[in-house]
This record gives sequence, C-alpha cells and structure tokens, in this order.
Amino acid sequence: MMHPTHAPDHVFNETAGWYAGDFHAHTTCSDGQHTPAELVALAVTEGLDFLTITDHNNTDAFDALDAALPLPVLRGVEVTLPSGHFNVIGLNDKPSWLQRIPAMLANAASSNEPVLEGSFVDMLMDECRNDAPLVSLNHPLLKPWEWNEPDIRLSRLTCVEIWNDPTWPDNAIANPATVDLWSKWLNAGYRITAIGGSDFHFTGSGPGPYLPALNLPRTVVFAQCLSAAAILEGVRQGRVYVTMEPLIRFHARANGHTFDIGDDMPTAFGEVQLEASVQTMLGEVSLQIIKNGEIIAEKRCGSEGQIICQEPLTSEPLWVRCDVRDGEGRLVAVTNPIFGGKWPAPPERRFRDFFHDEQED
Ligand SMILES: [Zn+2]
Ligand SMILES: [Zn+2]
Repeated sequence: MMHPTHAPDHVFNETAGWYAGDFHAHTTCSDGQHTPAELVALAVTEGLDFLTITDHNNTDAFDALDAALPLPVLRGVEVTLPSGHFNVIGLNDKPSWLQRIPAMLANAASSNEPVLEGSFVDMLMDECRNDAPLVSLNHPLLKPWEWNEPDIRLSRLTCVEIWNDPTWPDNAIANPATVDLWSKWLNAGYRITAIGGSDFHFTGSGPGPYLPALNLPRTVVFAQCLSAAAILEGVRQGRVYVTMEPLIRFHARANGHTFDIGDDMPTAFGEVQLEASVQTMLGEVSLQIIKNGEIIAEKRCGSEGQIICQEPLTSEPLWVRCDVRDGEGRLVAVTNPIFGGKWPAPPERRFRDFFHDEQED
C-alpha cells in the first residue's frame, strides 16, 4: 500500500510561503545515476523543499518508492521523442498514453518518414493535459535536443523550462534565448509559466562552468502550504521564479492593493509602484525591472538591494517581471510576471510563429 506521504495533498508544512525545488530530474529508471530513494535523499541533503522525478518515457521510479517521503515528490515523466522533450508533471498514476510511446519510437526508427508529425504531438499533449496539470516544454533551444515540432499550438503548454542544466556549455546561449522566446509569448498574450529544471543525471564534473547539482537552477514557488498539490497550484497561477542562487521579492502596489508575482491587476488604474529586492552571495549583481520585454529600471547592488519605480497603469496590456544579472551580465534569476491592463484571449499561435526565418516560407 502507498505510504500516506505519497498522496498529492499530504501536507509537509502548513505554512503558506515560497518553497524551492526542482521540476526535472532523472533516476536509474532511465539514464540517471541515483536510485529513486537516493535521489530523494539527495534532495533533502541539498535543502530542496520539493522534488519532481521525470524519467525518460516511464514513471517506474514511483513504483520503487514505497517508504515514507521526507518531502513532496511530484510525479512526472519526460516525454522523450526524436523531435524534442516535454515534461508532464502532476500525474496521479501510470498514464495510458505512455505505453504507446515505445511503439511510436520503434516506428520512427524503422522509417525514413517522420512519423511524429506536429498534429500528432499536439494531440498527445492534449491527452497529457487531461492527466496532469502541467505540460512543460523542456530545453526548447538546446541543441541537439531542441524542440523540432514547429506546428504545436502554444495553447497546449502550461509551462516552459526557461532554465535547464547550466553544466551544458550550450545552455549559456540556449537558456537566455529561451527567456527571450518566452518574453515574445508573453507579449502575444500567452500565460505560460516559466520554470527551471536541473535535468539532473549524476554527480561529478561536467564540461561547463558549473558542477551538476540537483537544485541548479532551483524553482521557487509560492504555495498555500507545502504539498505536491499546493506546489502544482502555485505553478498554475504563475507564482514562480527561477534562480541560480539569488532570492527575489517582487511586488506591485496600485490603488491601495499589493500584487505579487503571478497576480493580475486588471481593475487597478492610475499609477503602479513596482518594488523588487534581492539577496545574494554572488557579489555585485544588477537588478532589473522588465516591462513587456523592455528594461524600465535597473540598479546595481551588493549582497542586498532594492529598486522601486513608478509606471502608468491603463487598460493597455502590461506585464512586468524582475531579472537579476551577475557582475558579468549573465542572467541568474528571472521572475514570472505581474499582469496589468486588459488582455484579450490570444489568437491561436504555433511554436514556429515566433521564429522570423520560418515565418517567411
Ligand atoms: Zn530532455
Ligand atoms: Zn531530462
């Protein structure tokens, strides 16, 4: 019988607050080095509040975990296709579509024709959405695992992994490029929550500037309590920031109300005061407030700093977020937005619509 701590609504901490964890990690059930139990123990050692296990095309890790859990472990899978990867997070049990993937892959391998057409993946994602609250596009611009299904509709996605394992040297380019792509999606009216994923496979050394670590980056989620269900709900509401280390607070104050990351201020008009603060051990950092993709305020600060600016607030669609860059200008933390103004439902757009070159043919 399943231990009660495995239930999605099992509460590990009753306090509402910001909880840090990981949405992308592998075990020996696919190509990871640690057994599921070892990975859970490592998550505790590294100070995570929650963990997600996302093995390639299977959820076997959850059959192997039967003891009491010390933290919420979200049930996920990395749907791994020749044309790209996406995480399905928050499953309750073994989904039926998972069994069909090996046959699809065998088919694709024995044929020169592309079997997994865009419309097919679109339908698969639709099915995933019926079984789990979060469907997240993984490392969409990281070669050679970049997303190659240009026809999927963005409405299929609830999340995008803007920050993947920084130990891969190519992520020095792919991660910031994904943040830029996500900004375009936000400008187009899509409320897709940005999350991070360490894509953890093993401890040891990597080819890049960082050592592989569960929790690098970490994704910090505001949840009403610490349970798997509350974390999933926090992500669904966009109450999330992604960080390599800095702690961020970001608020908007308008018409006597305070709004937090993920909030909407559709009925607030006049002027909004934006307040961001950071705490970090990275040395000098730059704190930026971004409005609809453009920097509107910036301040350099040391281990602690704050920035405040005012912006007019009308019915015009507006999103604001806070970014942190290190002394060399590299992004080290990104919040999800606070939204203002009136946002009409976005027209149906596809992944390819946001790449200039492909729009022309
Ligand atoms: Zn992947
Ligand atoms: Zn992965």
